[in-house]
Amino acid sequence: MSDREFEGGCLCASTRFRVSGTAMSRCYCHCKSCRLAFGAPFVAWVTFPAAKFRLIRGELAQYQSSEGVLRGFCASCGTGITYSNQARIERIDVAVATLDDPGSLQPEYHIWVSHKLPWRPTTPICRVADERCRASSLTRNTAFASVRDLQASAAQHAVEPGVD
Ligand SMILES: [Zn+2]
Ligand SMILES: [Zn+2]
Repeated sequence: MSDREFEGGCLCASTRFRVSGTAMSRCYCHCKSCRLAFGAPFVAWVTFPAAKFRLIRGELAQYQSSEGVLRGFCASCGTGITYSNQARIERIDVAVATLDDPGSLQPEYHIWVSHKLPWRPTTPICRVADERCRASSLTRNTAFASVRDLQASAAQHAVEPGVD
């Protein structure tokens, strides 16, 4: 996987960071804590060695969202940036969207799909729904069966518990 240097930062640009090393895993997390922390239906994370993460400007405020879990965010604008868990303190998760080049780290799997909302934007599920709206020949039941198939396939991607 990639072993290079990344930079990123928050919405107001007062917090900037640099992280390097091997991007150990990349996922979409559907857990409720991520959803509320970001005000978003799910969050894309990339995991790096914690020792390779450093702030180059500003400061991260931290919120303990559950036992042993600290979420780092910009104290000025609230952008969620990091997730660290005492159970695996040698690693840090960085919100992919805060990287300057987020498009280069596409998530590979989904976790906490048991918390997943029944809809997901920008996925084939949405495209199926759009087709149902436009194509009168496609019955309501057919469309829902397709959505169920896609959800079942997404559920099989669940790999790594422990991010909450
Ligand atoms: Zn900020
Ligand atoms: Zn999560």
